[in-house]
Amino acid sequence: MVIPPLIQHKRDGHALEPAQWSELIREYTAGRVPDYQMSALLMAIVWRGLEPEELAALTDAMLESGDRLRFDGFERPRVDKHSTGGIGDKVSLLLAPMVASCGVAVPMMSGRGLGHTGGTLDKLESIAGFRTALTLRETRAQVERLGCAMLGQTPEIAPADKRLYALRDVTGTVESIPLIAASIMSKKLAEGLNGLVLDVKTGSGAFLPEPERAIELAQTMIGLGQVRGCPTVALLTAMDRPLGRACGNALEVEEAIEGLRGDGPEDLMEVTYALGVEMLVLVGAAKSPADARSRLKKSVTSGSALQKFAQIIEAQGGNPAVVEDPSVLPQAAEVEVFRSPRDGVIVQVEPRRIGRAILELGGGRRTIEDEIDASVGFVIPAKPGDRVRTGEPLASIFARDRDGVAMALEALKEAVIIGDEGKLTPLISHRVTAAGVRVLA
Ligand code: URA
Repeated sequence: MVIPPLIQHKRDGHALEPAQWSELIREYTAGRVPDYQMSALLMAIVWRGLEPEELAALTDAMLESGDRLRFDGFERPRVDKHSTGGIGDKVSLLLAPMVASCGVAVPMMSGRGLGHTGGTLDKLESIAGFRTALTLRETRAQVERLGCAMLGQTPEIAPADKRLYALRDVTGTVESIPLIAASIMSKKLAEGLNGLVLDVKTGSGAFLPEPERAIELAQTMIGLGQVRGCPTVALLTAMDRPLGRACGNALEVEEAIEGLRGDGPEDLMEVTYALGVEMLVLVGAAKSPADARSRLKKSVTSGSALQKFAQIIEAQGGNPAVVEDPSVLPQAAEVEVFRSPRDGVIVQVEPRRIGRAILELGGGRRTIEDEIDASVGFVIPAKPGDRVRTGEPLASIFARDRDGVAMALEALKEAVIIGDEGKLTPLISHRVTAAGVRVLA
C-alpha cells in the first residue's frame, strides 16, 4: 500500500474510503507501514477529523485487527467501564471487583498511561508479578471462575490500538475525538459485552477540556456502541482537579485498596458508585439505581470486593498480600511535604501539571521504550475551595532522588494556586445516553 498520497489526502481535508482504512490498519498491524508514516497520518486526523463513515471504518478495522472474547453459553451479564483518562483516576481498580462481587461479569480491558494521564495497566503492574497480558482463553476462564479479569491489549485483542495508542502517546496525537473514540471502542467492542459505561472526563486535565467536546466524544462513542450491539451510557465527571488524593501508580493502588476497605476519599467513592450504578442497571442486574447502589455499598462493607480484588491479583500472578499490607508496593526513596505558602483558599489544583510532573519523576513514558518507576507521584489531599493557612501541609511528594523532589516542589507551586476565593465544580455534571443529554448539576 502506498501511504504518502493517503496522508496528503487527509492532510488536505478529504475523506478516505472505508476500504482504504481497512487496508491501512491491516498493513500497519502487520508491520508493513512504518510508524513515521502513521504518525503523520494521525496528526492529519487530529487537525482534519474524520467523517462518520471513516470513523466507523477505522473502528471496525481496529476491532478486526485482532480476535474477540467469546462468551457463548455464558449465563451472567457482562459489563465494563472505560475512562477517557485523567490524573488520580484509579476508579477501575475499585469498580471491577465491586461489580464482579455483585454477580456481574467484568472482562476489563484497559490501557497504559497516555500523555499526561495515568493508565490502569501501569497501576496494576506496580503489584509485583501482576500479569496483564492474558490470552483470550485465560481471560474467559478467569471471568468464568472469578467474574472478572483485568487485562491489556494483547496481540489477540485490538492489536492495532495497542500500537496506535503507544504511538499517539509520544507524538502529540492523543487529543482527537475520532482517535479517542476509535481507540476506546475498538477494544471495548472486542470484549463481548452486554453493556459499556464510559467515564468521560471534562476540565483542564482532560484530553478534551470543554464540556461540549466531552459530550460530543460521549455521543460519538455511544453511537459506535449502539449500532454494534453494545448499549453504552456515559457520565461526564470533573477532571479540573485530580480524583481522590493519590496520583502515581503504586500510590493509586494503595488508595484503591483503602477505598475497597471503605476508607476511600469521598470524591473517588462518589464517582465509583455512580459508574457502578450505571453498570448494574445497564445490564439489568439491579432493579433500580437505589438497589444497585446498596449492593455496591454492601460489596465494600462486607469485604467481598476487597477479597475479590485479592483473588484477581492472585489469579494474575500478583502478590495478594498487597490488600492486607500495601507497604509491599514499590516505595519511593524520597518523601517530602509541600506546605501552603500563604493563608487563603485553594483556587486550583491543576491536574495536567501534576500529570506532567509524574512523567518527569519517571512515573510515565516519554518514549515507547521507557520503563516506569511505579513508586513516584503525589498525594494531594488539598481540593479547590479548601481554606488553608501558611505552612499547612497540602501535598506529599514521592520521588527517587532529591532532584526529583526539587522538580516536584516547583510543579506543585505552579499547580496549586491559592487565592481568596475558590470552589469545587460539580463532580458529576452530565449523563449521556442514546436518548440524549441530561444535566445533573
Ligand atoms: N483511553 C483510550 O483507551 N484511548 C484513548 O485514546 C484515550 C483514552
